[in-house]
Amino acid sequence: MIVGAGFAGSVLAERLASQLDARVLVVEKRPHIGGNAYDRYDDAGLLIHPYGPHIFHTNSADVFDYLSQFSQWRPYQHRVLASVDGQLVPIPINLDTVNKLYGLQLTAMELEGFFEKMAEKRERIATSEDVVVGKVGRDLYNKLFRGYTRKQWGLDPSELDASVTARVPTRTNRDDRYFTDTYQAMPMHGYTRMFEKMLAHPNIKVMLNTDYREIARLVPWKHMIYTGPVDLFFDCKYGKLPYRSLEFQHVTLPQERFQPVGTVNYPNDYAYTRISEFKTITGQQHPSLTSVVYEFPRAEGDPYYPVPRPENTALYKKYEAEADALENVTFVGRLATYKYYNMDQVVAQALTAFKRLRERYETVGAEVALNSGSAALALPVHSRAPAPVRTQ
Ligand code: FAD
Ligand code: UDP
Repeated sequence: MIVGAGFAGSVLAERLASQLDARVLVVEKRPHIGGNAYDRYDDAGLLIHPYGPHIFHTNSADVFDYLSQFSQWRPYQHRVLASVDGQLVPIPINLDTVNKLYGLQLTAMELEGFFEKMAEKRERIATSEDVVVGKVGRDLYNKLFRGYTRKQWGLDPSELDASVTARVPTRTNRDDRYFTDTYQAMPMHGYTRMFEKMLAHPNIKVMLNTDYREIARLVPWKHMIYTGPVDLFFDCKYGKLPYRSLEFQHVTLPQERFQPVGTVNYPNDYAYTRISEFKTITGQQHPSLTSVVYEFPRAEGDPYYPVPRPENTALYKKYEAEADALENVTFVGRLATYKYYNMDQVVAQALTAFKRLRERYETVGAEVALNSGSAALALPVHSRAPAPVRTQ
């Protein structure tokens, strides 16, 4: 039984069905597959990402090759501008960002010295403030990072792990791409089509609109892959893990193009953090309409982001210990392992989880490997004898 039809759940369903000939039931509480990467055509016929813009990028040939079985790709390099002091400047910070913001004409070599002069020396880079202030100084930090981060997380950068703002590098050249990964592309016919292909195996059944708790006692299963929020699995017994949510405002406009790049960030103005234009990202053509999404950060709502900071990691560790003790449940994915992972990292994590399951399967045999429920389960396992797992 696989809980969740996002990347974590779908990759594992596909691998278990196609490689181990296991019979898989994917249970998804939403009315669609794909998790947060789900896309669909809106009323105007434009391909949109209901849960915010999803741009695929990875350095892993394994991940790219694996997904390439289920989709062709359209090359796409994402670009982002930040609206600061009435100007649009490239983010990540690069040579043009600095020259534009300060009216300078520095060269790349001179920019290194500029950053060194501006940077506040830090003994240790522990927080998201340290990362930026320690590299480019307080003024650029205030212009581009402080406001955006406070809006996005409801926390000051000094209260967040360094890893959060470290996602955005600093450059001294004029490269204005948001990512520099080896593989940067969008699934040619969208993410949902790719998920449909992954889940098309005859051994896989998908049950939508169903919380696994409604059926986990009714349907026999041997092994569970759980990809939902880890604290909820354990009824929040150690307390709720904080997640950050977003409210998405989708707007279709009667114009061919709304903004010059895929995403424009608003670090200091407005209640939203960024606006993304789907046609730029998907490559779809439409002469007179375009769809954009505004992201409004929220404390309540669907959990979208784990919040990386020491006290949350400590709380997660308690749940992780419980999760590790459950031999017949495997926790995979962004919410189930409380990691701020991109799509490719979740795919890699799921492929690794599959390898471990396969090793167990190969060494001890299917009956034991996929039914090793000796540890106490949060849920009772079988309502009747488990169905056999067929071997190849
Ligand atoms: P999810 O996609 O969250 O899937 C988990 C599924 O489990 C959900 O469908 C949920 O409904 C289901 N579920 C939960 N509980 C239950 C239950 N009790 N019963 C049944 N079903 C349940 N990554 C990138 O690489 N590039 C990007 O540009 C990018 N942009 C993003 C933008 C935003 C706004 C967000 C929020 C994320 C973005 N990501 C991006 C990250 C990406 O969405 C995740 O890495 C990926 O989708 C995580 O996959 P997952 O399977 O772990 O989780
Ligand atoms: N960030 C920022 N200003 C920006 C872009 C990013 O302060 O213009 C910070 C902010 O804290 C954000 C983090 O860097 O949450 C990571 O940015 P990313 O674009 O990777 O966020 P995601 O796409 O995951 O929401």
